[in-house]
Amino acid sequence: MSEDTLFHKIIRRELPADVVYEDDDCIAIRDINPQAPVHLLLIPKTTLPRLADAEPAHAEMLGRLLVKAGEVARAAGIGDAFRLVVNNGAGACQTVFQLHLHILGGRPLSWPPG
Ligand code: 5GP
Repeated sequence: MSEDTLFHKIIRRELPADVVYEDDDCIAIRDINPQAPVHLLLIPKTTLPRLADAEPAHAEMLGRLLVKAGEVARAAGIGDAFRLVVNNGAGACQTVFQLHLHILGGRPLSWPPG
């Protein structure tokens, strides 16, 4: 069921997580397998399996999520240099099918990404 992903369980506090930020709309947690010194996951509470499933009705929520990503990055001390990643679909290495933004920073971030 799409409301039963790992991240829904973390939001419902059925599973533990290192929560760095939460409000009515979203939660930010530390990734359990960090790919950078700072690796946070910003997860909306609105169920949305993939970014590609977004509809016009999601526009406001997604806009707020991006604004929040900048705030969370600043609060984590990486406001001047961070990368947002959204893996969309199994072919792009998405493993948890509830939308989440990876916020990565704290080391040099090269370009292009892999
Ligand atoms: P995706 O591959 O779907 O874009 O990202 C899922 C992320 O969730 C991965 O970076 C993975 O390390 C992270 N992850 C998987 N299981 C857990 C968990 O139990 N707790 C936390 N905090 N992160 C997890």
